[in-house]
Amino acid sequence: MTGARVGSALTDEQAAVRDLVREFAREEVRPGAREADAEGSFPEDVWDGLAELGLTGLTVPEAYGGSDADETTYAVVNEELAHGSLAVATALSVHCLVTSCLAEFATDTQRERWLPEMAEGRPVGAFCLSEPHAGSNPAGMSTTAEHDPDADEYVLNGEKQWITNGSRAGVAVVFAKVDPDDPDSITQFLVPADAAGFEVGPSEEKLGLRASDTTPIAFDDCRVPAANRLTEEGRGLSAALGTLTGGRIGIAAQAVGVAWAALEAATAYAEEREQFGEPLSEIQTIRHKLAEMSTDVAASRLLVREAARRAEAGEDARVAAAQAKYRASEAAMSVANEAVQIHGGYGYTVEYDVERFYRDAKVTEIYEGTTEIQKEVIARGLFDTR
Ligand SMILES: Cc1cc2nc3c(=O)[nH]c(=O)nc-3n(C[C@H](O)[C@H](O)[C@H](O)COP(=O)(O)OP(=O)(O)OC[C@H]3O[C@@H](n4cnc5c(N)ncnc54)[C@H](O)[C@@H]3O)c2cc1C
Repeated sequence: MTGARVGSALTDEQAAVRDLVREFAREEVRPGAREADAEGSFPEDVWDGLAELGLTGLTVPEAYGGSDADETTYAVVNEELAHGSLAVATALSVHCLVTSCLAEFATDTQRERWLPEMAEGRPVGAFCLSEPHAGSNPAGMSTTAEHDPDADEYVLNGEKQWITNGSRAGVAVVFAKVDPDDPDSITQFLVPADAAGFEVGPSEEKLGLRASDTTPIAFDDCRVPAANRLTEEGRGLSAALGTLTGGRIGIAAQAVGVAWAALEAATAYAEEREQFGEPLSEIQTIRHKLAEMSTDVAASRLLVREAARRAEAGEDARVAAAQAKYRASEAAMSVANEAVQIHGGYGYTVEYDVERFYRDAKVTEIYEGTTEIQKEVIARGLFDTR
Protein backbone atom coordinates (compact mmCIF):
# COMPACT_ATOMS: atom_id res chain seq x y z
CA MET A 1 0.00 0.00 0.00
CA THR A 2 2.26 2.76 -1.22
CA GLY A 3 -0.30 5.50 -0.87
CA ALA A 4 -1.39 4.49 2.65
CA ARG A 5 -2.86 7.47 4.48
CA VAL A 6 -1.27 8.39 7.75
CA GLY A 7 -2.85 10.60 10.38
CA SER A 8 -5.72 11.22 8.00
CA ALA A 9 -8.39 11.88 10.65
CA LEU A 10 -10.56 13.53 8.04
CA THR A 11 -14.23 14.29 8.59
CA ASP A 12 -16.65 12.41 6.33
CA GLU A 13 -17.08 15.56 4.28
CA GLN A 14 -13.32 16.07 3.88
CA ALA A 15 -12.87 12.40 2.96
CA ALA A 16 -15.62 12.71 0.35
CA VAL A 17 -13.86 15.70 -1.25
CA ARG A 18 -10.55 13.80 -1.16
CA ASP A 19 -12.09 10.81 -2.93
CA LEU A 20 -13.72 13.01 -5.55
CA VAL A 21 -10.50 14.88 -6.30
CA ARG A 22 -8.44 11.69 -6.20
CA GLU A 23 -10.62 10.15 -8.87
CA PHE A 24 -10.53 13.31 -10.98
CA ALA A 25 -6.74 13.51 -10.66
CA ARG A 26 -6.31 9.88 -11.70
CA GLU A 27 -8.85 9.93 -14.53
CA GLU A 28 -8.53 13.45 -15.94
CA VAL A 29 -5.30 15.08 -14.75
CA ARG A 30 -2.54 12.47 -14.67
CA PRO A 31 -3.14 10.95 -18.14
CA GLY A 32 -2.35 14.21 -19.98
CA ALA A 33 0.34 15.52 -17.62
CA ARG A 34 3.33 14.19 -19.56
CA GLU A 35 2.13 15.64 -22.85
CA ALA A 36 1.22 19.01 -21.31
CA ASP A 37 4.72 19.15 -19.81
CA ALA A 38 6.37 18.27 -23.14
CA GLU A 39 4.31 20.90 -24.98
CA GLY A 40 4.65 23.47 -22.21
CA SER A 41 0.96 24.29 -22.43
CA PHE A 42 -1.64 24.49 -19.70
CA PRO A 43 -4.51 21.96 -20.03
CA GLU A 44 -7.54 24.27 -20.19
CA ASP A 45 -9.93 21.28 -20.40
CA VAL A 46 -8.65 20.15 -17.00
CA TRP A 47 -9.29 23.66 -15.65
CA ASP A 48 -12.88 23.44 -16.90
CA GLY A 49 -13.16 20.10 -15.10
CA LEU A 50 -11.91 21.69 -11.88
CA ALA A 51 -14.54 24.39 -12.28
CA GLU A 52 -17.28 21.80 -12.83
CA LEU A 53 -16.25 20.12 -9.58
CA GLY A 54 -16.48 23.49 -7.81
CA LEU A 55 -12.76 23.52 -6.98
CA THR A 56 -12.16 26.95 -8.50
CA GLY A 57 -14.48 28.25 -5.77
CA LEU A 58 -12.67 26.49 -2.97
CA THR A 59 -11.75 29.72 -1.15
CA VAL A 60 -14.79 31.71 -2.25
CA PRO A 61 -17.46 32.35 0.44
CA GLU A 62 -20.69 30.40 -0.04
CA ALA A 63 -22.62 33.66 -0.44
CA TYR A 64 -20.67 34.24 -3.67
CA GLY A 65 -21.05 30.72 -5.06
CA GLY A 66 -18.01 29.03 -3.55
CA SER A 67 -17.54 26.31 -0.95
CA ASP A 68 -15.46 28.31 1.56
CA ALA A 69 -13.41 25.19 2.28
CA ASP A 70 -11.58 24.72 5.56
CA GLU A 71 -7.78 24.56 5.54
CA THR A 72 -7.64 20.77 5.80
CA THR A 73 -9.89 20.37 2.78
CA TYR A 74 -7.76 22.91 0.93
CA ALA A 75 -4.60 20.92 1.76
CA VAL A 76 -6.18 17.61 0.78
CA VAL A 77 -7.31 19.00 -2.59
CA ASN A 78 -3.81 20.35 -3.25
CA GLU A 79 -2.17 17.03 -2.38
CA GLU A 80 -4.52 14.98 -4.54
CA LEU A 81 -4.27 17.32 -7.52
CA ALA A 82 -0.47 17.53 -7.30
CA HIS A 83 -0.40 13.74 -7.29
CA GLY A 84 -1.90 14.11 -10.77
CA SER A 85 0.01 17.21 -11.91
CA LEU A 86 1.89 19.85 -9.93
CA ALA A 87 1.32 22.36 -12.75
CA VAL A 88 -2.46 22.05 -12.41
CA ALA A 89 -2.35 22.20 -8.61
CA THR A 90 -0.14 25.31 -8.77
CA ALA A 91 -2.51 27.10 -11.14
CA LEU A 92 -5.45 26.36 -8.88
CA SER A 93 -3.66 27.39 -5.69
CA VAL A 94 -2.71 30.79 -7.14
CA HIS A 95 -6.30 31.34 -8.34
CA CYS A 96 -7.40 30.50 -4.78
CA LEU A 97 -4.91 32.99 -3.29
CA VAL A 98 -6.55 35.68 -5.38
CA THR A 99 -10.11 34.72 -4.41
CA SER A 100 -8.97 34.62 -0.75
CA CYS A 101 -7.66 38.19 -1.05
CA LEU A 102 -10.92 39.33 -2.61
CA ALA A 103 -13.01 37.53 0.01
CA GLU A 104 -11.00 39.11 2.81
CA PHE A 105 -10.27 42.62 1.58
CA ALA A 106 -12.57 43.67 -1.28
CA THR A 107 -15.69 45.78 -0.94
CA ASP A 108 -19.09 44.07 -1.32
CA THR A 109 -19.40 45.60 -4.77
CA GLN A 110 -16.04 44.18 -5.85
CA ARG A 111 -16.86 40.78 -4.38
CA GLU A 112 -20.15 40.68 -6.26
CA ARG A 113 -18.40 41.76 -9.44
CA TRP A 114 -15.65 39.11 -9.36
CA LEU A 115 -16.19 36.23 -6.97
CA PRO A 116 -19.21 34.42 -8.49
CA GLU A 117 -17.48 34.29 -11.89
CA MET A 118 -14.14 33.28 -10.39
CA ALA A 119 -15.85 30.52 -8.41
CA GLU A 120 -17.02 29.20 -11.76
CA GLY A 121 -13.45 29.17 -13.04
CA ARG A 122 -13.15 32.31 -15.15
CA PRO A 123 -11.67 34.82 -14.96
CA VAL A 124 -8.55 33.09 -13.68
CA GLY A 125 -6.62 34.95 -10.99
CA ALA A 126 -2.93 35.95 -10.81
CA PHE A 127 -0.99 37.06 -7.72
CA CYS A 128 1.62 39.71 -8.52
CA LEU A 129 4.05 40.16 -5.65
CA SER A 130 7.55 39.17 -6.92
CA GLU A 131 9.66 41.44 -9.10
CA PRO A 132 12.89 41.00 -11.07
CA HIS A 133 14.87 42.56 -8.20
CA ALA A 134 12.62 41.72 -5.24
CA GLY A 135 11.72 38.09 -4.48
CA SER A 136 12.57 36.97 -0.95
CA ASN A 137 12.47 40.62 0.10
CA PRO A 138 9.19 41.98 -1.29
CA ALA A 139 9.67 45.20 0.70
CA GLY A 140 12.36 46.02 -1.88
CA MET A 141 9.81 46.20 -4.69
CA SER A 142 9.84 49.10 -7.14
CA THR A 143 6.31 48.98 -8.56
CA THR A 144 4.48 52.16 -7.65
CA ALA A 145 0.84 53.21 -7.49
CA GLU A 146 0.50 56.97 -7.55
CA HIS A 147 -2.83 58.42 -6.46
CA ASP A 148 -4.41 60.82 -8.94
CA PRO A 149 -6.86 62.78 -6.75
CA ASP A 150 -8.60 64.46 -9.70
CA ALA A 151 -9.66 61.18 -11.29
CA ASP A 152 -9.68 59.31 -7.95
CA GLU A 153 -7.56 56.64 -9.58
CA TYR A 154 -4.21 54.98 -8.90
CA VAL A 155 -1.62 54.87 -11.68
CA LEU A 156 0.53 51.71 -11.56
CA ASN A 157 4.04 51.51 -12.99
CA GLY A 158 6.57 48.69 -12.65
CA GLU A 159 7.28 45.09 -13.49
CA LYS A 160 6.30 41.85 -11.80
CA GLN A 161 8.14 38.59 -12.40
CA TRP A 162 7.34 34.84 -12.27
CA ILE A 163 3.59 35.34 -12.35
CA THR A 164 1.73 32.03 -12.37
CA ASN A 165 -1.34 32.12 -14.68
CA GLY A 166 0.20 35.29 -16.15
CA SER A 167 -1.20 34.98 -19.67
CA ARG A 168 -4.33 33.07 -18.57
CA ALA A 169 -5.44 35.58 -15.95
CA GLY A 170 -8.42 37.90 -16.30
CA VAL A 171 -7.72 39.66 -13.04
CA ALA A 172 -4.71 40.15 -10.78
CA VAL A 173 -3.97 41.14 -7.22
CA VAL A 174 -1.02 43.52 -7.50
CA PHE A 175 1.26 44.89 -4.79
CA ALA A 176 2.71 48.37 -5.22
CA LYS A 177 4.15 51.21 -3.16
CA VAL A 178 1.99 54.31 -2.93
CA ASP A 179 5.15 56.19 -1.89
CA PRO A 180 8.22 55.05 -3.85
CA ASP A 181 10.55 56.05 -1.01
CA ASP A 182 8.62 54.30 1.75
CA PRO A 183 8.99 50.49 2.03
CA ASP A 184 6.06 50.54 4.47
CA SER A 185 3.68 51.94 1.86
CA ILE A 186 2.98 48.66 0.03
CA THR A 187 -0.68 48.41 -0.85
CA GLN A 188 -2.78 45.75 -2.56
CA PHE A 189 -4.80 46.48 -5.72
CA LEU A 190 -7.18 44.56 -7.89
CA VAL A 191 -6.32 45.02 -11.54
CA PRO A 192 -8.37 43.61 -14.44
CA ALA A 193 -6.13 42.16 -17.16
CA ASP A 194 -7.91 44.23 -19.82
CA ALA A 195 -6.91 47.52 -18.14
CA ALA A 196 -4.83 49.74 -20.45
CA GLY A 197 -1.13 49.38 -19.59
CA PHE A 198 -1.43 45.78 -18.23
CA GLU A 199 1.24 44.09 -20.34
CA VAL A 200 1.86 40.34 -20.21
CA GLY A 201 5.34 39.21 -21.29
CA PRO A 202 6.42 35.91 -22.85
CA SER A 203 6.15 32.64 -20.91
CA GLU A 204 9.28 31.53 -19.07
CA GLU A 205 11.09 28.39 -20.24
CA LYS A 206 11.42 26.44 -17.00
CA LEU A 207 13.25 23.38 -15.62
CA GLY A 208 9.97 21.85 -14.45
CA LEU A 209 6.34 22.83 -13.94
CA ARG A 210 6.44 23.38 -17.68
CA ALA A 211 2.69 23.14 -18.19
CA SER A 212 2.15 25.97 -15.71
CA ASP A 213 2.00 29.40 -17.30
CA THR A 214 4.66 31.72 -15.78
CA THR A 215 5.17 35.21 -17.23
CA PRO A 216 6.34 38.69 -16.34
CA ILE A 217 3.62 41.35 -16.18
CA ALA A 218 4.48 45.02 -16.66
CA PHE A 219 2.34 47.99 -15.65
CA ASP A 220 2.75 51.03 -17.85
CA ASP A 221 0.67 53.94 -16.55
CA CYS A 222 -2.01 51.38 -15.75
CA ARG A 223 -4.96 53.19 -14.16
CA VAL A 224 -7.40 51.59 -11.73
CA PRO A 225 -10.23 53.28 -9.81
CA ALA A 226 -9.50 54.00 -6.13
CA ALA A 227 -12.24 51.48 -5.33
CA ASN A 228 -9.86 48.75 -6.58
CA ARG A 229 -7.53 49.37 -3.67
CA LEU A 230 -7.99 46.25 -1.55
CA THR A 231 -6.17 47.27 1.60
CA GLU A 232 -5.60 50.55 3.33
CA GLU A 233 -2.48 52.26 2.06
CA GLY A 234 0.56 50.59 3.66
CA ARG A 235 -1.32 47.44 4.76
CA GLY A 236 -0.54 45.41 1.63
CA LEU A 237 2.55 43.53 2.76
CA SER A 238 1.18 42.33 6.10
CA ALA A 239 -1.97 41.27 4.25
CA ALA A 240 0.14 39.37 1.70
CA LEU A 241 2.09 37.59 4.41
CA GLY A 242 -1.17 36.55 6.08
CA THR A 243 -2.53 35.16 2.81
CA LEU A 244 0.76 33.38 2.14
CA THR A 245 0.53 31.39 5.39
CA GLY A 246 -2.48 29.58 3.93
CA GLY A 247 -0.74 29.48 0.55
CA ARG A 248 2.30 27.77 2.07
CA ILE A 249 0.15 25.04 3.59
CA GLY A 250 -1.20 24.45 0.08
CA ILE A 251 2.30 24.31 -1.45
CA ALA A 252 3.47 21.94 1.29
CA ALA A 253 0.49 19.71 0.50
CA GLN A 254 1.41 19.84 -3.20
CA ALA A 255 4.95 18.74 -2.32
CA VAL A 256 3.45 15.76 -0.46
CA GLY A 257 1.41 14.94 -3.57
CA VAL A 258 4.50 14.92 -5.81
CA ALA A 259 6.50 12.85 -3.29
CA TRP A 260 3.64 10.39 -2.98
CA ALA A 261 3.39 10.04 -6.78
CA ALA A 262 7.16 9.41 -6.98
CA LEU A 263 6.97 6.82 -4.19
CA GLU A 264 4.11 5.02 -5.93
CA ALA A 265 5.95 4.96 -9.25
CA ALA A 266 9.17 3.68 -7.64
CA THR A 267 7.36 0.96 -5.71
CA ALA A 268 5.58 -0.29 -8.82
CA TYR A 269 8.82 -0.26 -10.80
CA ALA A 270 10.71 -2.11 -8.05
CA GLU A 271 8.14 -4.91 -8.20
CA GLU A 272 8.32 -5.19 -11.97
CA ARG A 273 12.04 -4.77 -12.73
CA GLU A 274 14.29 -7.80 -12.25
CA GLN A 275 18.07 -7.83 -11.82
CA PHE A 276 20.29 -10.66 -10.62
CA GLY A 277 17.32 -12.99 -11.09
CA GLU A 278 14.95 -11.25 -8.69
CA PRO A 279 12.73 -8.17 -8.58
CA LEU A 280 14.35 -5.01 -7.22
CA SER A 281 11.73 -5.13 -4.48
CA GLU A 282 13.53 -8.18 -3.02
CA ILE A 283 16.83 -6.30 -2.67
CA GLN A 284 17.17 -4.88 0.82
CA THR A 285 18.91 -1.69 -0.28
CA ILE A 286 15.97 -0.86 -2.54
CA ARG A 287 13.39 -1.90 0.06
CA HIS A 288 15.03 0.40 2.60
CA LYS A 289 15.13 3.29 0.15
CA LEU A 290 11.38 2.82 -0.32
CA ALA A 291 10.87 2.61 3.45
CA GLU A 292 12.67 5.93 3.91
CA MET A 293 10.70 7.53 1.08
CA SER A 294 7.43 6.31 2.53
CA THR A 295 8.34 7.71 5.96
CA ASP A 296 9.21 11.08 4.40
CA VAL A 297 5.80 11.22 2.72
CA ALA A 298 3.96 10.25 5.90
CA ALA A 299 5.86 12.71 8.12
CA SER A 300 5.38 15.56 5.67
CA ARG A 301 1.67 14.86 5.40
CA LEU A 302 1.36 15.01 9.19
CA LEU A 303 3.11 18.40 9.29
CA VAL A 304 0.73 19.69 6.62
CA ARG A 305 -2.29 18.44 8.54
CA GLU A 306 -1.02 20.02 11.76
CA ALA A 307 -0.47 23.38 10.08
CA ALA A 308 -3.96 23.17 8.57
CA ARG A 309 -5.46 22.25 11.93
CA ARG A 310 -3.83 25.26 13.56
CA ALA A 311 -5.04 27.62 10.86
CA GLU A 312 -8.53 26.15 11.10
CA ALA A 313 -8.55 26.64 14.88
CA GLY A 314 -7.65 30.30 14.41
CA GLU A 315 -4.20 29.79 16.00
CA ASP A 316 -1.05 31.45 14.66
CA ALA A 317 -0.03 28.96 11.95
CA ARG A 318 2.95 30.84 10.51
CA VAL A 319 5.65 28.60 12.01
CA ALA A 320 3.71 25.38 11.42
CA ALA A 321 3.10 26.37 7.78
CA ALA A 322 6.80 27.19 7.32
CA GLN A 323 7.82 23.87 8.92
CA ALA A 324 5.41 21.97 6.69
CA LYS A 325 6.62 23.72 3.54
CA TYR A 326 10.30 23.36 4.42
CA ARG A 327 10.07 19.67 5.31
CA ALA A 328 7.60 18.60 2.61
CA SER A 329 9.45 20.35 -0.22
CA GLU A 330 12.78 18.79 0.83
CA ALA A 331 11.00 15.42 1.05
CA ALA A 332 9.58 15.91 -2.46
CA MET A 333 13.08 16.58 -3.81
CA SER A 334 14.71 13.64 -2.06
CA VAL A 335 11.87 11.16 -2.75
CA ALA A 336 11.78 12.15 -6.43
CA ASN A 337 15.57 11.82 -6.60
CA GLU A 338 15.44 8.30 -5.14
CA ALA A 339 12.55 7.41 -7.44
CA VAL A 340 14.73 8.29 -10.45
CA GLN A 341 17.58 6.26 -8.90
CA ILE A 342 15.39 3.19 -8.45
CA HIS A 343 14.39 3.46 -12.13
CA GLY A 344 18.08 3.45 -13.15
CA GLY A 345 18.68 4.65 -16.73
CA TYR A 346 14.97 4.47 -17.56
CA GLY A 347 14.30 7.01 -14.84
CA TYR A 348 16.47 9.47 -16.72
CA THR A 349 14.23 9.32 -19.79
CA VAL A 350 10.87 10.89 -20.54
CA GLU A 351 9.47 7.38 -20.95
CA TYR A 352 8.80 7.37 -17.19
CA ASP A 353 7.08 10.06 -15.11
CA VAL A 354 9.73 10.15 -12.39
CA GLU A 355 11.98 12.52 -14.32
CA ARG A 356 9.09 15.02 -14.41
CA PHE A 357 8.43 14.58 -10.69
CA TYR A 358 12.14 15.29 -10.09
CA ARG A 359 12.07 18.47 -12.20
CA ASP A 360 8.73 19.61 -10.77
CA ALA A 361 9.63 18.95 -7.13
CA LYS A 362 12.42 21.55 -7.18
CA VAL A 363 10.08 24.50 -7.46
CA THR A 364 8.36 23.64 -4.18
CA GLU A 365 11.63 24.65 -2.46
CA ILE A 366 11.52 28.02 -4.22
CA TYR A 367 8.08 29.57 -4.69
CA GLU A 368 5.89 31.15 -1.99
CA GLY A 369 9.06 31.62 0.07
CA THR A 370 12.27 29.63 -0.41
CA THR A 371 13.49 26.99 2.06
CA GLU A 372 15.93 29.53 3.50
CA ILE A 373 13.11 31.99 4.16
CA GLN A 374 10.95 29.25 5.77
CA LYS A 375 13.85 28.43 8.11
CA GLU A 376 14.09 32.10 9.03
CA VAL A 377 10.35 32.18 9.85
CA ILE A 378 10.79 29.05 12.02
CA ALA A 379 13.86 30.47 13.80
CA ARG A 380 12.07 33.76 14.43
CA GLY A 381 9.26 31.79 16.07
CA LEU A 382 11.77 30.11 18.40
CA PHE A 383 13.21 33.37 19.64
CA ASP A 384 9.92 35.29 19.72
CA THR A 385 8.25 32.76 22.03
CA ARG A 386 11.05 32.42 24.58
C1 LIG B 1 7.56 28.65 -11.29
C2 LIG B 1 7.43 29.84 -10.38
C3 LIG B 1 6.18 30.40 -10.15
C4 LIG B 1 6.06 31.53 -9.33
N1 LIG B 1 4.82 32.11 -9.16
C5 LIG B 1 4.74 33.31 -8.52
C6 LIG B 1 3.49 34.04 -8.51
O1 LIG B 1 2.46 33.59 -9.03
N2 LIG B 1 3.49 35.27 -7.90
C7 LIG B 1 4.59 35.82 -7.32
O2 LIG B 1 4.50 36.92 -6.81
N3 LIG B 1 5.77 35.14 -7.32
C8 LIG B 1 5.87 33.91 -7.91
N4 LIG B 1 7.08 33.23 -7.94
C9 LIG B 1 8.26 33.88 -7.35
C10 LIG B 1 8.82 33.18 -6.13
O3 LIG B 1 7.97 33.36 -5.03
C11 LIG B 1 10.24 33.71 -5.92
O4 LIG B 1 11.03 33.16 -6.95
C12 LIG B 1 10.81 33.38 -4.57
O5 LIG B 1 10.14 34.09 -3.56
C13 LIG B 1 12.31 33.67 -4.48
O6 LIG B 1 12.61 34.96 -4.94
P1 LIG B 1 13.80 35.17 -6.02
O7 LIG B 1 13.55 34.22 -7.12
O8 LIG B 1 13.88 36.61 -6.33
O9 LIG B 1 15.12 34.71 -5.27
P2 LIG B 1 16.03 35.62 -4.32
O10 LIG B 1 15.19 36.32 -3.31
O11 LIG B 1 16.95 36.43 -5.15
O12 LIG B 1 16.88 34.50 -3.56
C14 LIG B 1 18.02 33.86 -4.15
C15 LIG B 1 18.59 32.88 -3.12
O13 LIG B 1 19.03 33.62 -1.96
C16 LIG B 1 18.38 33.13 -0.80
N5 LIG B 1 18.10 34.23 0.13
C17 LIG B 1 17.55 35.44 -0.16
N6 LIG B 1 17.42 36.17 0.95
C18 LIG B 1 17.88 35.40 1.97
C19 LIG B 1 17.98 35.58 3.38
N7 LIG B 1 17.61 36.73 3.98
N8 LIG B 1 18.52 34.59 4.13
C20 LIG B 1 18.89 33.42 3.53
N9 LIG B 1 18.82 33.19 2.21
C21 LIG B 1 18.31 34.17 1.45
C22 LIG B 1 17.10 32.49 -1.30
O14 LIG B 1 16.59 31.53 -0.39
C23 LIG B 1 17.58 31.87 -2.61
O15 LIG B 1 18.21 30.65 -2.34
C24 LIG B 1 7.20 32.07 -8.70
C25 LIG B 1 8.46 31.48 -8.92
C26 LIG B 1 8.58 30.39 -9.74
C27 LIG B 1 9.94 29.79 -9.97
